Amino acid sequence: MVDFSLTEGDMKLMEVMRAERLRARTIAREIDRIPESQPLTDGDHPIVAGTIAPYKQLAQEELPISGLAITECLMQTVGAPEFNTRPAPSPSGTWIVNELGTEEHRKAYGHLWLVFGVSEPVAGSDPSAMITNAKYDPQTDEYILNGEKTFISNIDLGDGVVVVAKGEPDENGKRPFYNIVLLKGTPGFTLGKPWRKLGTRYQNLGGFSMVDVRVPAMNVLGNGFVNIQTRLNVNRPVQSALGLGMCRSILDFTQEKLAKTGVKVDYAAGRSARGNVDDKLIRMEALWEATWGVIMQCKWLEQQLGQTSKDFQTQVAMAKAMAGKATRQITQGCMEILGPEGLSEDYLAEKYFRDARIIDIYEGPGEIHRLAIARKLLGYRKGELD
Ligand SMILES: Cc1cc2nc3c(=O)[nH]c(=O)nc-3n(C[C@H](O)[C@H](O)[C@H](O)COP(=O)(O)OP(=O)(O)OC[C@H]3O[C@@H](n4cnc5c(N)ncnc54)[C@H](O)[C@@H]3O)c2cc1C
Repeated sequence: MVDFSLTEGDMKLMEVMRAERLRARTIAREIDRIPESQPLTDGDHPIVAGTIAPYKQLAQEELPISGLAITECLMQTVGAPEFNTRPAPSPSGTWIVNELGTEEHRKAYGHLWLVFGVSEPVAGSDPSAMITNAKYDPQTDEYILNGEKTFISNIDLGDGVVVVAKGEPDENGKRPFYNIVLLKGTPGFTLGKPWRKLGTRYQNLGGFSMVDVRVPAMNVLGNGFVNIQTRLNVNRPVQSALGLGMCRSILDFTQEKLAKTGVKVDYAAGRSARGNVDDKLIRMEALWEATWGVIMQCKWLEQQLGQTSKDFQTQVAMAKAMAGKATRQITQGCMEILGPEGLSEDYLAEKYFRDARIIDIYEGPGEIHRLAIARKLLGYRKGELD
């Protein structure tokens, strides 16, 4: 039997997250105005001092929950994150070391704060176009890295990066992907200038170059690109849910503003009995709910079938494609209803509108996920639909 009811634990955790986000909202505008507002790597933001971190509560919750994967997404949907109130529990690079590395890797690097570098100026959506090269030097048992990475979140923070590079061609001319731990301070590894951007300004973005950078062979985590895709697939529905959280904030704000002018949406009225604004809001709420359903089904499949199941992966592409589009449509639709109040810096609506745009770019834009869905469902091969 399909059961969509939330458990007591789910509801409690959503409340914990909502409270955290409402606290953050009180200073969100201030943080957004700071050019390079650093996320924290080693402590909680003072605005949440004395409160339990929502993810810590999730890990230790004793009330029944729908499952770690589902409940994490439910928590993300309650409102916009505003900014990073807590250090990232495990940045992607650190996660890769701990999940894909050997015991030796975990001991050496598992405690470090490492981000993840795949994207390049000429290879974002299509990592196979990657230029960064890792060449083995048998004399020193090192790899020599050359290349450039861009749009890397929080590269200026922490200890380094797990960088994805292509190795030398094998006997069939195929170049393997390597995941390599690259630490700050290694000669030839140079950070670029931070990027300023439209939204999510609380999260820094930058690039780096590698010129004859030598790393010990032991820094290669191996495992190719497939396992990295698994990590991305687990995270994509969470990012999708985060987009719904941003939509929740702007939808609630729009409803509040309308209520102040005497407009109260009547969900029971038929189409012919409701005005344009009501109709628009109801359609946006329906889109929010539909996207919620696809994301939750995705996480349900992850819990039932595992992270490497094909059905889960197809549903990930659906959830991310749908959430990216819904997030853009809902934030845009609210701006249309709000008019000048949407644009005013007196409110946070324009920030949600800016922040939300990223959901349909990182971890794969909608165009790429729609290609992935066609490939998976209809059996197209790469190149046939591009
Ligand atoms: C805030 C932010 C944080 C990021 N963090 C990280 C990070 O930590 N680590 C990291 O490695 N990367 C990160 N990225 C990079 C992100 O993953 C890429 O921006 C994303 O994969 C898209 O790649 P691209 O920017 O090169 O765009 P492109 O691949 O150049 O695409 C540009 C446009 O063309 C479309 N397009 C491309 N190919 C096709 C096709 N075959 N058919 C139809 N349309 C197509 C795309 O959908 C997109 O709209 C981040 C990006 C941002 C903006």
